[in-house]
Amino acid sequence: MSAVMITRKVRKWEKLPGKNTFCCDGRVMMARQKGVFYLTLFLIIGTCSLFFAFECPYLSLHLSPAIPVFAAVLFLFVMAMLLRTSFSDPGVLPRALPEEATFIEMEIEAANGNVPAGQRPPPRIRNVQINNQIVKLKYCYTCKIFRPPRASHCSICDNCVDRFDHHCPWVGNCVGKRNYRYFYLFTLSLSLLTIYIFTFDIVHVVMRSVDKGFLNTLKETPGTVLEVLVCFFTLWSVVGLTGFHTYLISLNQTTNEDIKGSWSGKNRIQNPYSHNNIIKNCCEVLCGPAYPSVLDRRGLMQEDPLVSATCAAPASSSSNPVPQTTKTTAPLIPNEHTPDEAKPGIAASAEKTPSPKEEQPPDTKIPPLATPETDAETSIAKDKTH
Ligand SMILES: [Zn+2]
Ligand SMILES: [Zn+2]
Repeated sequence: MSAVMITRKVRKWEKLPGKNTFCCDGRVMMARQKGVFYLTLFLIIGTCSLFFAFECPYLSLHLSPAIPVFAAVLFLFVMAMLLRTSFSDPGVLPRALPEEATFIEMEIEAANGNVPAGQRPPPRIRNVQINNQIVKLKYCYTCKIFRPPRASHCSICDNCVDRFDHHCPWVGNCVGKRNYRYFYLFTLSLSLLTIYIFTFDIVHVVMRSVDKGFLNTLKETPGTVLEVLVCFFTLWSVVGLTGFHTYLISLNQTTNEDIKGSWSGKNRIQNPYSHNNIIKNCCEVLCGPAYPSVLDRRGLMQEDPLVSATCAAPASSSSNPVPQTTKTTAPLIPNEHTPDEAKPGIAASAEKTPSPKEEQPPDTKIPPLATPETDAETSIAKDKTH
């Protein structure tokens, strides 16, 4: 009798606990809510298509063929920066493993001592010194870690993100340590593209109006009116946003820190990351080293047996020790990232091979500290409010 094991490689992204979606086997990573991102794509591609269809043939003939060429280059750059921001890991910090979480909880309990019943335990904070400034590290009740300085928990993605700036629904992703510069270049290039299209829309209308009259021009190029409207309303918001981020970069500050007033005078803490020099701050934020992703989301977890089929006669199967199943440290639980076709196999595997851990009470590994979910909610609520 011989047993045939069919195994499936499980990558780490399939089991990541946050609320992200993954495509292309974990290469592309985004937030789960993508409706506004599709609107961004539609507005940019739609407006540029109208510009290439209605204005460019006339302008390249009567002014210069360089006009559509420059527009095309700018459009491609905007799209590249948008997709780079949207599809990348913004700097998500991995959650603590159960063993690590237990250890951290024990450390905190030992430090705080016994808290009398009815009293709130002291806030979970650690202090670190950065450039002679004391910076507080807050404990994340969801990720079970003390967040590094400047990190914050995104309530939409349900992850702690390093150097968290904000969650941007327009790009469908968090903006953090690993994609901030691309986000800034996206807003900057989009501002230029909007101004460019808006300007040449006006030039086009004026040049045609001289020959054929204003109303006839509008009748001949209906797309121009739509473009002018879209560009006009986009212009204020995008240019304003670019200006705001230019100001933040010059101070080496994040949107999150600006909203919370982390380095404002009332706290008497100066920004320890600022070089007190605009050029140095800009260089650090825009030209500093690129940080690798710490998620290792395409790394292999371990091979989980899916199906074990016997090829020979159905002899005494009870004597078969089924050694492979015991290798699994935790049952493979299908989640939202698991491909649909794999779910029945995983479920069957989980039913067949219950892990020894399942027989234990579920709370044995979780320390009996308060209610993690309610604490997590208050933590997230705090992040929202600040
Ligand atoms: Zn967190
Ligand atoms: Zn987010």
